[in-house]
Amino acid sequence: MDDCLFCKIAADEIPADFVFADDEFLAFRDINPQAPVHVLVVPRVHYADMADFARQDPDGVGRYLQRAVDAAQELGVADAGYRLVANTGVMAGQTVPHVHVHVLGGRPLLWPPG
Ligand code: 5GP
Ligand code: ZN
Repeated sequence: MDDCLFCKIAADEIPADFVFADDEFLAFRDINPQAPVHVLVVPRVHYADMADFARQDPDGVGRYLQRAVDAAQELGVADAGYRLVANTGVMAGQTVPHVHVHVLGGRPLLWPPG
């Protein structure tokens, strides 16, 4: 999709600090990290948010969440505990309209979030 930041990162038009990139998904470090581990997992195909993705490709969402869980394992935060976050829509503070899951870990995470 034209003019989408994460589509441009997926197309290698904007640089990112990649953790992995495969045919379907990529993961890169957040530019403004909120924890020692803060990685964004993104499908290459453009969906506006998790609801859009789930509507259009429910099986893909399953693979996506599996990939995010695997990423947490690979990033070394799985044993201590971590958080997967998918901000969805304005009230949740979603700022990039291309679905992404935050993998946050490496410090105690407060609950409830702000
Ligand atoms: P949201 O607020 O939509 O849930 O999350 C968007 C995230 O994208 C934010 O945590 C923000 O720091 C991150 N972000 C915004 N622009 C860039 C960028 O150009 N590169 C990277 N790596 N992360 C970005
Ligand atoms: Zn996009």
